[in-house]
Amino acid sequence: MAETIIKIDLKKSPYEQDTIHNRWHPDIPMAAMVKPGDDFIIECYDWTGGQIKNNDDAADVRDVDLSQVHFLSGPVGVEGAEPGDLLVVDILDIGAFQESLWGFNGFFSKKNGGGFLTEHFPEAQKSIWDFNGMFTKSRHVPGVEFAGLIHPGLIGCLPSKEMLAEWNKREKELFDTDPTRVPGLANLPYAPTAHMGKMKKEDAAVAAAEGARTVPPREHGGNCDIKDLSRGSKVYFPVYVKGGGLSVGDLHFSQGDGEITFCGAIEMAGWIHLRVSLIKDGMKKYGIKNPIFKPSPITPKYDDYLIFEGISVDEQGKQHYLDVHIAYRQACLNAIEYLTKFGYSRAQAYAILGTAPVQGHISGVVDVPNACATLWLPTDIFEFDVKPNVDGPKKYLDGSIDVPLAPDLK
Ligand code: ZN
Repeated sequence: MAETIIKIDLKKSPYEQDTIHNRWHPDIPMAAMVKPGDDFIIECYDWTGGQIKNNDDAADVRDVDLSQVHFLSGPVGVEGAEPGDLLVVDILDIGAFQESLWGFNGFFSKKNGGGFLTEHFPEAQKSIWDFNGMFTKSRHVPGVEFAGLIHPGLIGCLPSKEMLAEWNKREKELFDTDPTRVPGLANLPYAPTAHMGKMKKEDAAVAAAEGARTVPPREHGGNCDIKDLSRGSKVYFPVYVKGGGLSVGDLHFSQGDGEITFCGAIEMAGWIHLRVSLIKDGMKKYGIKNPIFKPSPITPKYDDYLIFEGISVDEQGKQHYLDVHIAYRQACLNAIEYLTKFGYSRAQAYAILGTAPVQGHISGVVDVPNACATLWLPTDIFEFDVKPNVDGPKKYLDGSIDVPLAPDLK
């Protein structure tokens, strides 16, 4: 039985536990030490640290304090790890706690977080997803059930001092191009809600003011939200500080490519079983700047899809040059419109795209002026036939159930 090296108490605030942190900084002390070859279990809060509850009210999503996220477990030091090495991490298994077999998906208010389709869904909404073994379904989104492709949304090693300075510099430069934008262009360091793990109070003040927020993916991996980084995969992380300092959190029971709903995938608290080893000087040997990984030998087998195309012409009909962001948005909007024909609300359709094992592909980036992106919707997750036929769509839902909506922020 692998040892649980970081335990959490869901009844306690993550701020009360010094094996949790919510900023990236090279001076955060290791929460635990392991040796190459060790395997061990780490327990994790959901990314918001328990701010979102299992109920039918989206006020918690609307009012979430996003300056607190993400609550990460770690950092875990690996004996002998040095800058320039690759830390090899086998994700052996992931699970939810027996007393917490549920997760949440939501859309943030445009005024507090926003998201990929925030112009179309400006108000806070959430759906609750219950886990039955490897499957999940939601009382707020009838007619779908699917197997979880369970993965950590966020995993990576501590940055070096130089790397942290570079992150803060480039993100501030972007932020300053439009500092009053809502939602913001970037999330800059913010000391008042920083949690610096085992760092002593007197050292924590300075570090908290410069610790990088955990929101974006960066060179170290971090918040990549890659659904295929699932249990059974093997990841090669660049090491920047002595000991590596591996931290993990933001566990997802399932997610569609792009995590387009942002709050988020199917978010859960749980545990992750890892094994670590080292490739000395591996960054240079393999020319690695960002992490690479091998996927799991086990994935949910959905091999029939309806594939929605999108091009880089926006909702107002404006032509954009090879913009895959706009093309993917159009593919998503096309899928949402299609699903409403079966009785889903637009919010339910959006929730399906954010949670189910939906694939997103960049299909073409050379055929000027249009990029082409595709959204692959698995057909076998539906309890009814979702494919087009000569008789037209049969309404599966009567509109009596919907994703709870919170009155907007004043
Ligand atoms: Zn997440």
